[in-house]
Formats: sequence, C-alpha cells, structure tokens
Amino acid sequence: MLNFRNSIIGFALLLATMYIAGFFMPVSSWLYAAAVSAFSGALVYGSVRICAGFYIRSWCSGNRNSREVAITFDDGPDEQVTPLLLDLLKEYEVQAAFFLVGEKAERYPSIAIRSCREGHIIGGHSYSHHKWFDLFSRKRMEAELKKTENVILNHTGNKIRLFRPPYGVTNPNLARAVRNAGFYSIGWSLKSRDTVIHDEQLLLRRITKKVRSGDILLFHDTMPHMLPVMKELISYLKEQNLKVVRLDKLLNIDAYAGNK
Ligand SMILES: [Zn+2]
Repeated sequence: MLNFRNSIIGFALLLATMYIAGFFMPVSSWLYAAAVSAFSGALVYGSVRICAGFYIRSWCSGNRNSREVAITFDDGPDEQVTPLLLDLLKEYEVQAAFFLVGEKAERYPSIAIRSCREGHIIGGHSYSHHKWFDLFSRKRMEAELKKTENVILNHTGNKIRLFRPPYGVTNPNLARAVRNAGFYSIGWSLKSRDTVIHDEQLLLRRITKKVRSGDILLFHDTMPHMLPVMKELISYLKEQNLKVVRLDKLLNIDAYAGNK
C-alpha cells in the first residue's frame, strides 16, 4: 500500500540500490533526479488526496451497497446560513454532521447547541481555520484540536471524536496531532464545490449526476446559495431511494467519546 512509511522505505531502498550499483556500472544522475521527483510527487499526492490514506487513514465513504448517504457541512457555525439550514433540515427530517471551526463555535455557541439538540452531530475543523494551518507545527495543530474540543465540550457537553482536516490536506504533523488527540480523520467521497460553483442549477446537477450509495457529501454552511440546492437535493435523494443517514451511522463509529 502506498503510504508515507512505505514510500520512505521504498525511496531509501532505491537510493541504496543505485548507490551500490554505482560501484559496478555508471548510474546516470538523471536516475537520481527521477527517483527524487517520484518521491516528491508521492508526498504531494498524499497531502492533497485525503482519501489516499497516505499519512493517516481517513474515513471517506460508507457501505457502497447500503442505499445510504451522509451529508456533512464544514466551516460553520455561520450566523446567517446555519440557522436557515437547521430549519430546512428539520423540515425535511434530515440529520447531518457539522464540522465546526472552534473560533466560530465560541462566537456562536447557541447555534452549535441547537445543532446537537436537533439531532445532528458535530466534529472539529480546527480552531482558526488559518490559511497556513497545514504548515503549523504538530504542537500548534494539536493545541487547535484540543481548544476546539474544549469549546464544544463546554457548550454542548459532547466530547467530539471526529475531525475534518481544513482544506482536506494531510501531512505528517497533522497525522500525529490527530492521532495524539484521539480523533478519527474524516474525509468525503463527493465534494459539492459549493465554495466555487455559485450557479445553483449547476451545483445541483454536479451532485445528482455523481451521488451514489455510501457517499459522504461535503458542503459548507457558509454558502447561502447552497440552501435551495440542499432542498432540491434532499428531494432527489428520496426519489432515488437513497436514505440520508447521520455520518456516525453511515460509518458505524461513535461521534463522541463515551458514546454520547
Ligand atoms: Zn474548511
């Protein structure tokens, strides 16, 4: 399996083989360059493809034969969009997962509390969602994870166990921080791209064309144009006999420590 550890071992073995071969035959410096670029390519691929499980295993889909899907939202709580989304989800009796930015949860605790009260689950999505989060040290990342965990615990009483890496980027520091904090890393299998596609029909078509059993759908409850799309999507899923279940149920894992 291509992961960080295996890539390092493979790369070290390759360099050692080329070095030893150099005693018996000329080894072109191009071969060394090719080995280094293949290794670098693997590292970059592993960083941006969360579901490759390169640095840490991430949960990206459920059972593909289940006729079930889960809907998840990142980057909230948002003062404007999240309450409207909660109204909509309540109306359609859909339970979702919200990956909260700790700093926003601290600012709008009543929205986080409402989400839990209405049967949704919440997880962490870092405290700051800083644009350079991926370059933070392991210690700084871990501090953000813990801070977010405490904010949510203090306001909702739930000790979160699910974490979605900001921007879906993983690396060795993030992997260690997530492991040390005892979280599950959560990815997705279908990204709506609601942060870049602002045409509602286009957005809806993109999702309905691709959605299938076991999918984890990714949206952002900071995007107001996502609301009418969500309404249409829920009806579409029902027509297709695809049941929306909560993420923890789709994956059969506990969202909170102590089974809360
Ligand atoms: Zn995010």
